[in-house]
Amino acid sequence: METTLVLLKPSCVNRGLIGQIINRFERRGLQIVGMKMMQLDDAILRDHYSHLVDKPFFPSLAASMKATPVVAMALQGVEAVTVVRGMTGYTNGRKADPGTIRGDYSMSNQQNIVHASDSIDNAAVELARFFKPGEILNYKHALAEYMYGSDEI
Ligand code: UDP
Ligand code: MG
Repeated sequence: METTLVLLKPSCVNRGLIGQIINRFERRGLQIVGMKMMQLDDAILRDHYSHLVDKPFFPSLAASMKATPVVAMALQGVEAVTVVRGMTGYTNGRKADPGTIRGDYSMSNQQNIVHASDSIDNAAVELARFFKPGEILNYKHALAEYMYGSDEI
């Protein structure tokens, strides 16, 4: 089992898409093991986007992520990091495949609805950044035996 971080960005929250996006993860079979609303600030955004702080678009990106609260989610499943990145789609919504979240809901390279961790290592770092100890709640999924083969979990 893997656990990955998803952020429902201000572009999701303000367009009234929180329920639709959470529904996609639930119906795929990902288990929600952590979820909360948060107001992000410059300090957490400089850490979270440390690979982008020197890019010319960083001030605009940070402003877009601070505009309103976001929803932080911890999603669990077999190969959850790869599955969730696949559901998220290409960064630029205009280039993202239809059927992905960004390809179905976004026309933007920045206002692209969701963040999703891009590797197992980054997922661990990002989950620790957005969730305090005790805020991720591991519990047995009641239907696990119908969601995976017995040799998969
Ligand atoms: N971003 C942007 N302009 C760009 C590239 C990225 O505003 O030219 C924003 C966009 O919101 C993206 C985030 O920066 O989701 C993080 O960029 P990254 O390359 O990590 O893409 P992601 O992992 O989100 O697909
Ligand atoms: Mg990224």
